[in-house]
Amino acid sequence: MSGGAPARRRPASRRARELPEPVIAYIALGGNLDGPAARIRRALAELARLPHTRLVRASALYRNPAVGGPRQPDFVNAVAKIATRLAPRELLERLLEIEARHGRTRSVPNAPRTLDLDLALYGDAVIDEPGLTVPHPRLAERAFVLVPLAEIAPGARVPGRGCAAGLAALLDARGMERLEDGPRRPGPNAG
Ligand code: AMP
Repeated sequence: MSGGAPARRRPASRRARELPEPVIAYIALGGNLDGPAARIRRALAELARLPHTRLVRASALYRNPAVGGPRQPDFVNAVAKIATRLAPRELLERLLEIEARHGRTRSVPNAPRTLDLDLALYGDAVIDEPGLTVPHPRLAERAFVLVPLAEIAPGARVPGRGCAAGLAALLDARGMERLEDGPRRPGPNAG
């Protein structure tokens, strides 16, 4: 006989409120100041440490010529796939905190920057609120986001636009240079 009182369980509704199902989201990372490749790798490690979040996969790093703005160094870009229980707004706030820790300042549009983190996709959510637009509004025009996204998730749907691989194929990515081989999976302790 097993004996003892049955374990007390919280009502299902309460558990669900505390722990929503993880959502797959994609974060676009970029920067062109102060050692951008090493910085992007550190930012990936910081994404893996976000609460209620697991880094599922990261793309290779890509070097890209700067688009628009003043003359400036090439960018390094990557895309991370995460599984997160954070709500979109909370996730965005965490991304902005990581940017701030990397000394990100905002001057003119398209200015050089240490680190830019964009919430590219959050499940199949379509969000249009002050300060938060998902999918990221310029996602479908940006080879430096779509190419790394298509590398790790070719079938990822951009709501209202199509899949990542199809959208990437429409863009001119000739200026992009892949800096390392293959997508990276985090180690067993990541996230
Ligand atoms: P940026 O200068 O490109 O890094 O723009 C950052 C600002 O864009 C933030 O203050 C956000 O409020 C806003 N924003 C709106 N939608 C997004 C998104 N999907 N990802 C990141 N930032 C966003």
